[in-house]
Amino acid sequence: MIPYVKEIKFEYGACDQVSPRIRRVIADNPGPFTYTGTGTYIVGQGEVAVIDPGPDDPAHLQAILAAIPNERVSAIVITHHHADHSPLAGPLKAATGAPVYGCPVTRHVAEEAGAPRMEAGHDLAFQPDVNLCAGGTIAGPGWTLEAIPTPGHTSNHLCYALAQENACFTGDHIMGWSTTVITPPDGDMTDYLASLEAIRARGFATLWPTHGPPIREPDAFIRAYAEHRQERIDQILGALESGPAKISELVPRLYADVDSKLWPAASRSMLAAMIHLVRKGQLTAQGAGPDATFRLA
Ligand SMILES: [Zn+2]
Repeated sequence: MIPYVKEIKFEYGACDQVSPRIRRVIADNPGPFTYTGTGTYIVGQGEVAVIDPGPDDPAHLQAILAAIPNERVSAIVITHHHADHSPLAGPLKAATGAPVYGCPVTRHVAEEAGAPRMEAGHDLAFQPDVNLCAGGTIAGPGWTLEAIPTPGHTSNHLCYALAQENACFTGDHIMGWSTTVITPPDGDMTDYLASLEAIRARGFATLWPTHGPPIREPDAFIRAYAEHRQERIDQILGALESGPAKISELVPRLYADVDSKLWPAASRSMLAAMIHLVRKGQLTAQGAGPDATFRLA
């Protein structure tokens, strides 16, 4: 069982001091992928970094600027290029002159055109000024942010460690309110499981997801989060013991108790698991993509 944390007190557009060095302003974009909305973090005092400015919403831009009337933004920091995270980077840069840090969009994103809508959408215009795909640090007075490559949810996802608080901004990689969507080809289950362990192994005291409240017991949370993925993977292996099958046959069997409206989403995450298992040599695929027939190796 994942020990979800969902309780969050806030008002849209208000700025809350949530730790000694962290303030948060939540955008008014609640929804099935964003929970109560995008939580934009302001790190430092006087000279600040803004993490995940959010959707291109003028009211949210005003709320961020109103939170820091006499302060300077020295860095705009992006976890990944989804439409609820990065689009406001451009307008915020225009307003402040601060450079944008992140990892550019790379892998296969265009191929997802026909796939069922599982995310807030891609911000294909996203282009950082400073490329942190391989990691790197950003510093200001009293704060240091270290980019940690965490591919999985997207191929360009970065988490950011705040050294002074042994904390980590986890974007959509690890969220307290929900599991994260892994949809191929930009999403990758093999990468995702490795990225979960990479964050767990760091021993952070607190995780700050872009959506929802902080996670105060990261080690236990991430272990449960990873176990949940492994259970889903084991279910697939168990189902294939009775013979080869396509995803379209397995989903109604394994998700019989789930609303069939969720089956397209379940099919995408099952595909991510299948690709992972083929790569590990546990399955073979006849055919390609979502219509392939899978069998135990
Ligand atoms: Zn996302």
